Amino acid sequence: MMKVVNFNAGPAMLPKSVMEKAQQEFCAYGKSGCGIMELSHRGTEFTEIIQKTEKNIRDIMKIGDEYAVCFIQGGASLQFAMVPLNLAPVGGLTQYVDSGSWSSAAIKEAKNFVKVDVIASSKEGKYDRIPDIDDAKISQDAAYLHITSNNTIYGTQYHSFPESSPVPIVADMSSDIMSRVVDVNNFGLIYAGAQKNLGPSGVTLVIIKKSLAERLSATIPTMLKYKTYIEHSSLYNTPPTFGIYMVGLVTDWIKEQGGLEAIETVNDEKSEALYERISASDFYRNPVEPASRSKMNVVFKLPSEELEEKFVKEAKAKGMVGLKGHRSVGGIRASIYNAVPLEGVEKLIDFMNEFESANS
Ligand SMILES: *Cc1c(COP(=O)(O)O)cnc(C)c1O
Repeated sequence: MMKVVNFNAGPAMLPKSVMEKAQQEFCAYGKSGCGIMELSHRGTEFTEIIQKTEKNIRDIMKIGDEYAVCFIQGGASLQFAMVPLNLAPVGGLTQYVDSGSWSSAAIKEAKNFVKVDVIASSKEGKYDRIPDIDDAKISQDAAYLHITSNNTIYGTQYHSFPESSPVPIVADMSSDIMSRVVDVNNFGLIYAGAQKNLGPSGVTLVIIKKSLAERLSATIPTMLKYKTYIEHSSLYNTPPTFGIYMVGLVTDWIKEQGGLEAIETVNDEKSEALYERISASDFYRNPVEPASRSKMNVVFKLPSEELEEKFVKEAKAKGMVGLKGHRSVGGIRASIYNAVPLEGVEKLIDFMNEFESANS
């Protein structure tokens, strides 16, 4: 039976070969006689898994020794609190860019602990673009500048980042981590829930410049300190072993594909083909300013909500699932993360052609 093409926004599609490998090892990992989820997090097998996974991430993203790679639970949403708690003094100044719902959620959470200065926002235009950041507004006095590199709901993405920020840049890369080449050295901290591009939900990748973890002044719970994860190599308590194992397999797969250059080339091809099809007629309409279009989450509208509903239903019947836009914005959203193959996007484009002919 042909597997469906999965356009879910997250948890999302994983590479087929990864799913098959995990299936094999689910009940019996190597020679251990135990399933992958039954192994001790302090045993030799899991020690090898977590070390390999960290090494893969460092190799793929070219991460230097001055950065730590941590595996944390609580999703990207917990990072909305951990970032201000660890990086800024209580009540201290921080700066944020508001580019969508997840940025707003990060801002709202930070306000519980620190002073938040929003230096750029595209809220007025219904988040139809990445707002311009005026470098002059970045304050030396801020503990950091927080951005959201890809806006999963609105389908917008940064295609360049501030390069000479006087303060560390913190980026929520949940929905475009490892989708393209990014210079980690431009960031103080990068975080990403795994469930979009890296693995299952339940584990969050945090890449942090070690010196930033030393800033901590307030008394915060042990499990909320980056220092705890750094000092114990993410093994202070029981980590999400299955999630980390899956990130290990996905990063093996990324290496097999030829690393981020190769992944980026395919992602460019996929997104260009889809945007080209959307632009080819008035039947489909992408509401995003062209320079801000996301290569991960492609959103579009049809002439009416009834047609959108019909589109989602008929696509599903043809083996394409997860195309309904986020409930807050409606429309259609095709999330085309790394694991969605070009053929999947081509199948969607063929369906878009048929659907337009039949309904316009
Ligand atoms: C999905 C998503 C989140 C929320 O992630 P959780 O792991 O569910 O907390 C945050 N930010 C962005 C950009 C996302 O895409």
